Amino acid sequence: MITGIYPGSFDPVTFGHLDVIKRAAAMTDRLIVGVLKNNGKTPLFSTDERVNMLQEVTGDLSNVEVVSFSGLLVDFARENNVSVIVRGLRAVTDFEYELMMAQTNRVMEPSIDTIFLSTSLDYAYLSSSMVKEIATYGGDISKFVPSVTAKRIYDKINQN
Ligand code: ADP
Repeated sequence: MITGIYPGSFDPVTFGHLDVIKRAAAMTDRLIVGVLKNNGKTPLFSTDERVNMLQEVTGDLSNVEVVSFSGLLVDFARENNVSVIVRGLRAVTDFEYELMMAQTNRVMEPSIDTIFLSTSLDYAYLSSSMVKEIATYGGDISKFVPSVTAKRIYDKINQN
């Protein structure tokens, strides 16, 4: 039984994240999408909102569960019998940080490995921050996020 975790901020979830989730879910028996609570950035959406938005768009994937976590990823992974950490790689700019994280996590917990899924070309440019930026100026984000998510983003931005 292989349990994987795909950790991230998901502020908000994009088609790039969803692509990684679907591909990772096909390779694992159980995939936990872990929404990080304490990542030092000030998020647009609260942790609960980010979890709810992910649940909304992954409901059709039966082996995917979405939870939030705080503290060290390796501790959370150990507690949940996770053997594989999944991360997405978009461009070479992601590489240095991701490699350092993977190596550090492996020193802390040698039994848990990190695998990287290269982004689908369609989403190579896509980031949560870009989506927020476009939405702030009233741009069309329908190519970047699911329609239910887009609605929540516009609602949130209009509230602020
Ligand atoms: P974090 O703050 O942990 O980087 P993100 O939500 O920005 O959280 O990203 C979570 C993971 O998803 C990271 O591994 C990131 O590289 C990956 N990711 C983000 N956008 C894309 C995309 N468009 N295609 C593939 N992977 C992506």
